[in-house]
Amino acid sequence: MNGEFVMECIDAAYASVKEHAAEIMVLDQTIGDGDHVFNLIRGLEALRGIRGEIEALDAGPALKLAAKKVLTTVGGSSGPLFSSLLMGMSQQCEHLNGDPRGYAQMYAAGVQAVQDRGKTGKGSKTMMDVLIPVAERLNELVDRAPTVPLIVAELSREANRGMLATRDMLATKGRASFLGERSLGHIDPGARSSELMISAVCERIGKSYR
Ligand code: ADP
Ligand code: MG
Repeated sequence: MNGEFVMECIDAAYASVKEHAAEIMVLDQTIGDGDHVFNLIRGLEALRGIRGEIEALDAGPALKLAAKKVLTTVGGSSGPLFSSLLMGMSQQCEHLNGDPRGYAQMYAAGVQAVQDRGKTGKGSKTMMDVLIPVAERLNELVDRAPTVPLIVAELSREANRGMLATRDMLATKGRASFLGERSLGHIDPGARSSELMISAVCERIGKSYR
């Protein structure tokens, strides 16, 4: 993995978020303040604006640069959280040697950094309900050593399950928690955007193996 690949993943995430922008907007208008997708698009566009710089770097420094850019451009609650994901991953890049276990460790470090920042785990109706199950599933899968295309297909399904599960959860973190019971029956916008970005990255990774 290098900066060029990091940039390709950012492009894939951006395309998917843009495609589903109206849907994410409505989700955040329903249980938040409606800005989530615009925050995210602003950050992803800023990353695309420094394409040359990201592409010139190794994976670790590329992710670190992206993390810093996201922190200063995304805003909202999700900006520092997505930034932590990238920063956490950037710190676990030395051991990448093509073994999927190295990528699993890298992703897990990113998710742990988000959890440290947001102070919540699964079940509070946030992006953690996608990020954590995907990390857990990835850990299980790499130990059983199936192929990379099988791993990424399964991770997309896990992300989808996690996103859908937020519909029946009571929000206890973030803006949606102000709604109490009224948050029930609605999917969390951050869970949906995280699922879309994870699936887009998984698809991009899968393509390298075709
Ligand atoms: P804001 O709520 O400040 O407007 P955004 O709209 O950018 O921020 O992001 C909202 C999303 O952030 C939520 O849908 C939820 O997934 C996520 N979120 C909020 N608080 C937390 C937290 N403490 N931990 C993890 N994710 C959170
Ligand atoms: Mg919002």
